[in-house]
Amino acid sequence: MRNIVLLGAPGAGKGTQAVLIAKEYNIPHISTGAILRKNIQEGTELGKQAKSYIEAGQLVPDSLVIDIVADRLGQDDAKNGYILDGFPRTIAQAEALDRVTTIDLVLDINVPFEAIIERLSGRLVCKCGETSHVDWVDSDRKCPKCGETLFVRDDDKPETVRARLAVYEKQTAPLIGYYEAKGNLVSVDVDGSDQVEDVFEKVKKVL
Ligand code: ADP
Ligand code: ZN
Repeated sequence: MRNIVLLGAPGAGKGTQAVLIAKEYNIPHISTGAILRKNIQEGTELGKQAKSYIEAGQLVPDSLVIDIVADRLGQDDAKNGYILDGFPRTIAQAEALDRVTTIDLVLDINVPFEAIIERLSGRLVCKCGETSHVDWVDSDRKCPKCGETLFVRDDDKPETVRARLAVYEKQTAPLIGYYEAKGNLVSVDVDGSDQVEDVFEKVKKVL
């Protein structure tokens, strides 16, 4: 099981689990959200094109992300496996992915809707990639990993969160059926009280 796709609603904890999986299995963590945000920060052409979509909670056009991912998967460090986080997000992206690689396993992280809302509404992130929550950190909001100040992502505002969840239901959730039909989907059910480590234990069991 080397080429892995992570599926799950925004806030399901894909990013957090992807970091742990990448470390455990020594494979690169490829996050389209992180790549896009980096491009926005650096003011690249891609970043300029993606910005308005992301801020509105919409998906950026398939054409913008498909080539990036195909390129990234072609790099040397992805030859022995990778964990894809946030891609594919549409059927068209999944079909494009099937043209350039073979996916061994699709892991769906399934979290109840109420827990998703609760998490996204207090999510804090760090430049280093760490994710946290207002309920878990001290009031100074320092990153437990690198010490920088944690911040709220622009697209975690309540209106945008609602838009992202609607987009997930309509455009991304159909991928569950797509991969189920191929026979390489496994689901991990997470409930609101599961800690990061509990989820990772469940994940390791199915990988
Ligand atoms: P989350 O999973 O919490 O929504 P991500 O960091 O994966 O966060 O994505 C943030 C935003 O980046 C998405 O809402 C979307 O606008 C854009 N994005 C990321 N990956 C894709 C993709 N594969 N296709 C289209 N848009 C994407
Ligand atoms: Zn940090």
